[in-house]
Amino acid sequence: MKVAIYSSTTQESQRLKRMIIQGLEQNQIEYDEEHPTVVISIGGDGTLLSAFNHYQDQLDSIRFVGMHTGHLGFYTDWRTFEVFDLIESLKNDSGQSVSYPLLNVDAKFSDGTKKHFVALNESTIRDMVKTMVCDVYINAELFERFRGDGLCISTPTGSTAYNKSVGGAIMDPKIVGFQLGEMASLNNRVFRTLGSPIIFGADAVLTLRLNDDSTAVLSCDRTQLMLGNTRHLMELTYSVAKQQIKFAKFRHTNFWLRVKDSFIGGES
Ligand code: NAP
Ligand code: MN
Repeated sequence: MKVAIYSSTTQESQRLKRMIIQGLEQNQIEYDEEHPTVVISIGGDGTLLSAFNHYQDQLDSIRFVGMHTGHLGFYTDWRTFEVFDLIESLKNDSGQSVSYPLLNVDAKFSDGTKKHFVALNESTIRDMVKTMVCDVYINAELFERFRGDGLCISTPTGSTAYNKSVGGAIMDPKIVGFQLGEMASLNNRVFRTLGSPIIFGADAVLTLRLNDDSTAVLSCDRTQLMLGNTRHLMELTYSVAKQQIKFAKFRHTNFWLRVKDSFIGGES
């Protein structure tokens, strides 16, 4: 086992990072930020999203562990007073993991360039200046012309994030698929969209074609793509990614308990 710590910059997170590194040393567990097999994220969900982004090319060999010093901490199982328990679990680890589906995002730009992303939560496409207009294709067949603020395409575990705010359903992450949610769609006698979220299965391909004069902006989790004046987004393709994210199973709260804890709370 080789452990790396990816921490937010708060004092509390930095303090925990030092404590964990000390615990690892005392137990002869190797620390390796270049090629880890376990990545401990210390912070909130945002930190975990950044850790995921940082180690995106090594997803097959990494299991993630989340320690909570953020606000909500949907992805984080460990509390700050549990450093000792965490080190014990690492020592006794048998290598088990839980995997969740991810989203492929392929973008084509007006200057012929392309970019590929993988999202853990979601990708959004939005226009802050004017109505976003785009043609929505499902498996290469034209489905609808969307007009509105934008669209949110989310993974199952991202369904409790932005997707939830735009009225999407929460998806069981055992379902390998992704979800399309509308943001303030225009619906009247002239313009029409489906008006409800869609959940796609494992093989679906969703394509969005934008107008030539589009000023839409693309996001992938925490990252916003800055385009400048010389090129704009032309086409986006979404599908389930081949890779999955793995979380270490020595402590991994069941998804529905996580949802209850994050959104309902209280005693039971
Ligand atoms: P942030 O503003 O701190 O995130 C917004 C909230 O979403 C935080 O409370 C965050 O938890 C929580 N969150 C993140 N992923 C979640 C998940 N899978 N399930 C449930 N809650 C989740 O920004 P950030 O920390 O950089 O996170 C980026 C994410 O924020 C984006 O991927 C997007 O999903 C979400 N977001 C939501 C809206 C909206 O709902 N209107 C707008 C923009 C972005 P922590 O407090 O632990 O960070
Ligand atoms: Mn956050």
